[in-house]
Amino acid sequence: MVEYSIAPFNAVPADQGQVLPKSGTGICDRIQAIHDRIHTSARRWGRAPEEIQLLAVSKTHPAQAITTALACGQRAFGENYVSELTTKAQALAGQDLSWHFIGAIQSNKTRTLATIAQWVHGVDRVSIARRLNDQRPDGLPPLQVCIQVNISGETSKSGIDDASLPALAETLAELPRLRLRGLMTIPAPSDDFDIQRRAFARLRQAQDDLIRRGHDLDTLSMGMSDDLEAAIAEGATLVRVGTAIFGRRSG
Ligand SMILES: *Cc1c(COP(=O)(O)O)cnc(C)c1O
Repeated sequence: MVEYSIAPFNAVPADQGQVLPKSGTGICDRIQAIHDRIHTSARRWGRAPEEIQLLAVSKTHPAQAITTALACGQRAFGENYVSELTTKAQALAGQDLSWHFIGAIQSNKTRTLATIAQWVHGVDRVSIARRLNDQRPDGLPPLQVCIQVNISGETSKSGIDDASLPALAETLAELPRLRLRGLMTIPAPSDDFDIQRRAFARLRQAQDDLIRRGHDLDTLSMGMSDDLEAAIAEGATLVRVGTAIFGRRSG
């Protein structure tokens, strides 16, 4: 197996030193390092490591990088551009992997997504949910969906505000070709563990509220390369890790 090699890393900014992979290590080593971080955090907070899934975010990296990760046992991959997802899905057709779409969803791309993806994490409005439901082909299992919540209240970010969440969850739960699994968020970046944790706690509380309302949810999609420990402390069941596995993105 040829190891996909990434470009040499530039000087590492002091505040990101622990996130960027060490140069000279390969994708398999870095995936193992993320599993180690997941295990350490899970133990620290009294959680079972097996309940935390690793989504390898392969956006901007070539299909060859995914092939390498597949050979190391990684199965779930995250992409956030539909055209890039389409190209990679064709290149890797027949492989034992699942595609998670984690980007913003444009309505003219829902048919492609409904056909290719197994999971879509960024659903934040009824119109998109209905299109995905109507366009999910017969014969495929329901599309697994997370609602994206704008937990930090930033107007520039996508995601629904938590006050509007129950109504969207209600609608989604009635769409037969979608299966609502839980919530996803991308909080405002912070270097402070306690601030990171507070944002993730809000997503968990929103999830708990939906569960009290009768929704059967098992997925909290939160935590990335530099805040996955705080996310695990607050109950993340799926962490989305790009840079710390595949290296810095050029685009
Ligand atoms: C790019 C991306 C990630 C991965 O971020 P890293 O900091 O590279 O680990 C996770 N989630 C979403 C939604 C992304 O767009």
